[in-house]
Amino acid sequence: MSSDLDGKIITLQVQVKKLQSQKDSLLKELDDVEENFEKTKRLYKKYFPVIIDSVAMGDNAFSKACKDLSHAMKKEASQGKLEYIFECLKTAMLKEDIGSVPGKQTKGLLSVFKKNSSTSFIKAYKQSYHDVVNTLRSNLDKQYVGKLDNIAQKINTAEDASDISEIRESVFGLIFVYISDTSQDRDKVNLFVQEIVGKIFDIESFINSSFEDADSLFASNDEFETILNFEITELKQKKETSPTLDDLKIQVAKRLDAIEKALEKKQAEDRAVKKRVKQNQDAFKTGFAKLKLKLDKATKHSRELEKKLNKDQLTGAYNRRAYDQRIDEEMERFLRYGTKFSLLMMDADKFKLINDNYGHAIGDRCLQEIIKRTLPLLRKNDMLARYGGEEFVIIMPETDSEGAKTAAEKIRKTIEKIEFLYKSKKVKVTISIGVSQTKKGDKSHLQVFERSDIAVYKAKEQGRNQVVVN
Ligand code: GH3
Ligand code: MG
Ligand code: MG
Repeated sequence: MSSDLDGKIITLQVQVKKLQSQKDSLLKELDDVEENFEKTKRLYKKYFPVIIDSVAMGDNAFSKACKDLSHAMKKEASQGKLEYIFECLKTAMLKEDIGSVPGKQTKGLLSVFKKNSSTSFIKAYKQSYHDVVNTLRSNLDKQYVGKLDNIAQKINTAEDASDISEIRESVFGLIFVYISDTSQDRDKVNLFVQEIVGKIFDIESFINSSFEDADSLFASNDEFETILNFEITELKQKKETSPTLDDLKIQVAKRLDAIEKALEKKQAEDRAVKKRVKQNQDAFKTGFAKLKLKLDKATKHSRELEKKLNKDQLTGAYNRRAYDQRIDEEMERFLRYGTKFSLLMMDADKFKLINDNYGHAIGDRCLQEIIKRTLPLLRKNDMLARYGGEEFVIIMPETDSEGAKTAAEKIRKTIEKIEFLYKSKKVKVTISIGVSQTKKGDKSHLQVFERSDIAVYKAKEQGRNQVVVN
């Protein structure tokens, strides 16, 4: 009997020991949990007041509550006092009386967080606009340099969404000016502008959805922390009040389970948000790469258009439109800096006869030949344009009438030598050239033009195929 009892006692002792060690290890686990909780609390205490201080801007109920909270946390105020301050904070937030900064428009608390959470997007946005400005810089004329510098400066100092929208406005403004300056093809220009506007709005919407993702990340964090805090508090209470070890075990297991589930849910949410943000960033990047391509293409197209618009179809020389633009620029330079230029007017002699004798097609070929032979005799800065019919003009920058006369003689002699064979007959063409240079007192290029015109008239009068300076 006694050995039987002894055996039972031994078994019980073993069981009690086992249970005791189980209880010890569970309590240790609880201590760890508690220690972690304390660590987290210390972290909050250390950093929360800093965040709160940085958010508390302006002079309003929200800022006041923030300051109170920061103070209370630093002083380790009682639970009741903290709860009271949190209530004040909540009321202020609901009233949206938050975060107003002098000189800036009133912005809600969310915008402060958004600003912080969106720094990387603002950065990406800034980089993209820098790319646009660089593209424009490498394609646009010197007259836009100042405007582009201004925009680049704005991009460098941009901090928030309103700065970005200002940059967008400036870029749009510049694109519009550039397009209207360089092209007359309205349909294509409009299409291009629509595409650009569309692309920039696409990018904006990506950034907005990224803001929303950041918000949902905050929400998910808050939810997780609430669950965690609740479960840990419950766990601590159970430790004190559980009647038996089994009950405690069940409670601990239940709580740990809840924490684990909350953690899994949060991780899944975080992963989903991260994925969305990544997708948005990728789409943002490709969207902008496409925009840059479009811009390059449109710029190239605009330049080709410009060239076409300035060329005479028959001879390939510049046309009247190009002449009008260039003569304005030259006259401007003359009036401002006194930079002289000469103007030559060439008129084919008795050209009506050529058409009458050999036909219009031969007449056309003659005009083409005159241009083909004249171009190699000119300097790089000279401009040869078809003024109309069988009349051509040549602008010779920084050339006086002496130099222009020499050049004109060379042209005249070259044309004189041209011989076409038409049905075994030799077709010859000559030209008369009038030359004049800018003179002191000239107010308009029309005065220079008139002198050249009179000179041509004189050349014709004196027998044609000659150069007259006026
Ligand atoms: P002048 O020596 O006095 O200049 O005699 P002209 O016959 O050249 O003068 P006028 O101005 O009377 O006639 C110009 C002629 O040039 C008439 C027109 O048919 C011809 N012409 C003008 N443009 C073209 C063109 O594009 N192709 C051809 N084939 N002929 C043209
Ligand atoms: Mg004529
Ligand atoms: Mg003529």
